[in-house]
Amino acid sequence: MIRKLDKLYEGKAKVVYKTSDPDKLILHFKDKVTAFDGLKEEERKGKGILNNLISSLLFEILESKGIKTHYIRRLSDREMLVWKAERFLVEVVVRNVAAGSLVKRLDFKEGEFLKTPLVEFFYKSDKLKDPLICRSHIKLMNLAPEEAISFMEETALKVNSVLKDILKERNLLLVDFKLEFGKLPNNSVIVIDEISPDSMRIWDKKTGEKLDKDRFRYNLGDLLEGYRKILERIS
Ligand code: UDP
Repeated sequence: MIRKLDKLYEGKAKVVYKTSDPDKLILHFKDKVTAFDGLKEEERKGKGILNNLISSLLFEILESKGIKTHYIRRLSDREMLVWKAERFLVEVVVRNVAAGSLVKRLDFKEGEFLKTPLVEFFYKSDKLKDPLICRSHIKLMNLAPEEAISFMEETALKVNSVLKDILKERNLLLVDFKLEFGKLPNNSVIVIDEISPDSMRIWDKKTGEKLDKDRFRYNLGDLLEGYRKILERIS
């Protein structure tokens, strides 16, 4: 039996615990929701449970398609057992439809379908508010080796294709999502963190209803109702 030990790190939405196995960690999903670099922050009771369930299901789907992730198993309502990996300070965003910062930054209209999926990198830095960066910045700042950058890009596109298809079958449109990656002691690069409506945009294909964290960002309706609709359809 694996035992939960000291807290290793506490972030906005999750707490990470060490375990009796030095190669494994426990993620605990909290109810806190934040947006705009922490400027907007609230508790939504039960959000952590939904994100743990949704993330676990999506990680299981990715694993079944041969995509390596840190996911081992779901331990309880709010807890997931994962492999311990050394994270890269890079966020990888894949977009199928224009929304969010892409619309603010460039000449795209929200809801516009992109001709091909777009992969973007962001520097994970609270101080600098996660700026958009390119491969040259990643190399220059030594955030990840060259092969790892290519691997992250290819894997992110694979994840996109798997998730997009699964969601499409359920009448859901995968607009965009963010992935994080880490390195295992054997040097293999895997998907880490969470894959939940906190870090994705998912719209109802027919009605266009937004079911993700944009409900909270822009007061579009009950947040958990959106998350529950996603969970029901992917279960
Ligand atoms: N995203 C995230 N964490 C971040 C920034 C973005 O999970 O720190 C997700 C976000 O939920 C969306 C996608 O990445 O699904 C693209 O986000 P975008 O760059 O449009 O930024 P936003 O305007 O959402 O902050």
